[in-house]
Formats: sequence, C-alpha cells, structure tokens
Amino acid sequence: MAITGYCHHGMIRRRSRYDQESDREGKADNEMMKEIRDKVEAKRQEIMKESERLRTEATKNHICANCGSPLPSGKRTYCSSKCSVEFSSRFDYSVSSNILREYARKLKDEYNAAHPKKERQPWSTPVARTEHECSFCGSMIKIGEKHEKYVRLPEHDEWFDDDPYGVLRYHTNCLKFVNLLSDAELIEYEGFDEDEAFALLCEVALETGKTFEETVSSIISGNFPSTELLEKISNEFDGELSPCYPNLWDSDHSGYRYVYAVKYESFDRPEARMHVSFSELKDPSDFFAKYYSGIYGDKFNRILSVKWIKVPLPRVEEKETMK
Ligand SMILES: [Zn+2]
Ligand SMILES: [Zn+2]
Repeated sequence: MAITGYCHHGMIRRRSRYDQESDREGKADNEMMKEIRDKVEAKRQEIMKESERLRTEATKNHICANCGSPLPSGKRTYCSSKCSVEFSSRFDYSVSSNILREYARKLKDEYNAAHPKKERQPWSTPVARTEHECSFCGSMIKIGEKHEKYVRLPEHDEWFDDDPYGVLRYHTNCLKFVNLLSDAELIEYEGFDEDEAFALLCEVALETGKTFEETVSSIISGNFPSTELLEKISNEFDGELSPCYPNLWDSDHSGYRYVYAVKYESFDRPEARMHVSFSELKDPSDFFAKYYSGIYGDKFNRILSVKWIKVPLPRVEEKETMK
C-alpha cells in the first residue's frame, strides 16, 4: 500500500518464533572463553620458550635445531631449508598457529563435556503473581491466572539486541488466537505489531456490533471470531492493519482512542485503512475525504464508509525484563 509512509507505527513488540534450541548462559560462556584464551596464551609462551631454547642450543653446539644432525660450518641453526620450515611449523606460536588453534578447540570440547548445556526455553506457563498487561489484547492478566510468558533469549529472538531478556505475556486464549491468525495466514508468521493487534480487535468489534471490551473478553474466554470474518477483514485491508495517526497529535488528550475503519475507493478500486485519533472527529467522512484527496489527488474516488469506536487509552505499564 502506497500510503504506509503517512503512518506512524507504534513500538514494535513482535511475537517471535518458538524455538526448541537450547541456550547457554552468556556469562558462563564469557568466563569459559577467557579461561581458554589464558590457557592458549600460556601455551604460546611455552612453545616460544622451547623454540628459543632449541635454537640457542643448536647454534651453540653446531647441530640442526630440527633434526639434530651436525651442521656444516657457516650454518647457524638448520641443516636445510626443509628443516627450517619443519621447525617453524612444529613450534608455531604465531596468531595463525594450527597447534594453538587445535589446543583451543580441545579445551572447548573438554569444557563442553564437563558442563552440559543448561536448557532455557523462551516460553513458559506461569501463574501471575502480579497483574500483567497482555501483549496481544492490552487488557490485564489477573493475579493467579495461568498465562503464557515469553522471554527474549539470545539466539532465539531476532529482537533480542533491542530488548534483551524482555518479557511478553499473553492470555492463554489470546496466544491461541494469534496462532490461529498465523496458521490461517491472516498475519505474517513473524508476529504481530501491537498496533495491528489493536486495530484488528477494533475492526472485529465494528463488524460484529460489539464493544471493544466485549470483543476482548470473548477472545480471552476462547470465543474467537469466525474464520469467514477474519478472512473478510484480511482481504479488505489487504493484510495491512497498522493504523494511521492522521495529523492529530496536538489535540487534547481525552483519555480515549477513537478508532476509525475507513473504506474508500481510489484508482476505482476499493481500499480500507484503520486510523487512530486521540480526539473525536467532528465530521469523519469529510475529514477522510480530504485526507485521501490529499494523498491520491484526483485518483481518489470516494469514501465508501466510515465506522468508528471509542476505546480507553491503556494504562502505562513499566517494561518488564527478566534477568
Ligand atoms: Zn636438519
Ligand atoms: Zn489478552
């Protein structure tokens, strides 16, 4: 869709793939790496000293440092260039040394054998000890409620670097619903933008004639909207539910979000788009007719319908991180 550039996207908190691969504690890894580096350095010093000792002795005793055969006069360390090459590879303490590389690998294998991997899974099903906001529906997971918890872990989560050990929590049925949407390819497999989830819930509410709260509590209790409805929404919005925030920042914050599902025609084709405003629009149809004329010029045909719903702003919650 061409108008994406006009949209403000909220903070992305994507649900990431469930991954069975185990993870090793980063801290223990770092300690292991340091220990191995120290041991490799000690080994390097050892090789270097032995190499020096043998070469000094060879020069002193007029024998080849590599093979020990007597040296003809004039030769100081090796009997031949072949012996010179052989000696430097036997006592290689350079950065590219195969001996040291092999040694480091051996130490790593030993460490891994002695410390079997500690499994840590991103998903768990805890009982809430405090209230938490559901990352999908935005309403509260109550104290004592069993729910789905996801922790961003290194090597599991593509957003780990942005939000290390960040925690996402879901109502059990909200996660089921997300998986259902994903399986039906109504959303991208990679996950769901918070804004998109919110817009979808609003559109479901508008299509079913329920309030936002009723729609959310249906989903939480496992009564999901029909597949037909979800497909209709997905088709109409072309799979793009991220809402636009059209130029309404400086309006008074009313404590509500006014969410508009705008269906219109441009280039003689039907289109649909969600919009969020923080104050109520006086004449939504007129507002969006001007808005889309501004974008499409004379390729804008007409507004087909504007439906809207009023939803309280979510309470601001501190970001949760697991250490
Ligand atoms: Zn030799
Ligand atoms: Zn939920």
